[in-house]
Formats: sequence, C-alpha cells, structure tokens
Amino acid sequence: MANLESFRKSMISFCQVSARSFPWRETRDPYAVVVSEILLQRTRGEHVIPVYNEVLRRWPTVDRLARARVSTIERVIAPLGLVKRAAMIQRLAQEVAVLGRVPFDPEVLLGFPGIGPYGAHAIPIFADYQDLPLVDWVIARVLGRYFGLSNDRRPNADRALWGLATELADMGSARELWLGVLDLGAAVCKPVPRCHKCPLKEHCSAANSSSAGAG
Ligand code: SF4
Repeated sequence: MANLESFRKSMISFCQVSARSFPWRETRDPYAVVVSEILLQRTRGEHVIPVYNEVLRRWPTVDRLARARVSTIERVIAPLGLVKRAAMIQRLAQEVAVLGRVPFDPEVLLGFPGIGPYGAHAIPIFADYQDLPLVDWVIARVLGRYFGLSNDRRPNADRALWGLATELADMGSARELWLGVLDLGAAVCKPVPRCHKCPLKEHCSAANSSSAGAG
C-alpha cells in the first residue's frame, strides 16, 4: 500500500513528540508490562496508574503475586471495576511463576489466563521491543479510517487489519509505531475525529472522502 511508509513515519514522529507518559512505558520489566496489559483491558490509562502502582508495591515480583490472596487482589483492583478478574490474575501469575519467566512468543502467551491476541502481542512489543503487529479497537479505528478499510469486525478477528498491521510492524520500530497510533487514537482520531489537528490528514482516506467526519 502506497502510504504505509508515510503512515509509519508520521506515527513514530507523533510518538516521539506527543507520547503520553505512563509508568509502564518507563520499564521493560516483563512482569510489570504483563500487569499493565491486564489492568488496561477496557480501562483508560489514567485510571490504571494508581492501581498499577499499588499492585507493584504490594507484589513486586510475579512469585509474590502468585501467592497473594484472591480477596486481596480483588480489593486492590476494585477501583477499576475488575474484581472478577482477581482469580484470573492470580492464576496467570501462578503459571508465569511456574514457567520461571514471562514468555515473549505470542503463541505461547495466548495459552495463559486472561491473555488475548492484543496482550499476546503487546507484551513482547513493549517488554522485548519486538516488531510485531498490534490491533485493538483504537488501532482498528485509526487504521480503518486512514487506509479506508471497513471496520465491521471485532479487531481480534479481523485478518485484513492484522495483515496490514504485520506489514507495518515488519518495517521496524513497532513499539514507537503502535504507541503513536494509540496516542493519536486517544487524542485526535477519537470516535469523533479531529482531522484538522491530525498529522495524517493529507493522505487519510476518511478525511479526504466526502463522508469524512472531519472535526
Ligand atoms: S485525518 Fe481524521 S480520520 Fe484520518 S486518521 Fe486523522 S483524525 Fe482520523
């Protein structure tokens, strides 16, 4: 696709200039990255920060979390409305503790409790800087609009989107690329897009179509 390189460069630049600051972006500790990815599921980053900090304060290693009481985990993650996830988080920690490390192979990660296609790719991208594809609802929205793809499938099941994301990731610097896309989707390419502020507007299919909701 002609605009792949242009898109990628713009998003890496956006990441370098406009990246949001979160504690899990300052670490490559695989355990901390796993904790962040579990807590971030369907939850805004700003809300996750205090819970993430408290989880790592109470249980600084995966072995400690594996031995935690489910009721205590429930209490710590309650501010995020995630109490049903406490038992899953403990099982995940126990399986990682038995293995002795966080695996970085998406196929292996998919076999762990609570890890779906997004997390299985996000963990090696953000903890091991691997050039892998990544698709969630936000990334699907940005890619779909820019490249003119239909967005009528769940991101996890959209093979076209994952294929496009693979092409982009194969070009390198996937960590910065996806952080840029996630941050652009949060600040600019929102459900109601703010195209006048977008570095992608020149080549964006949605912004340049008659049906674009350019805000
Ligand atoms: S130009 Fe508009 S629709 Fe296209 S990516 Fe940017 S904000 Fe989204």
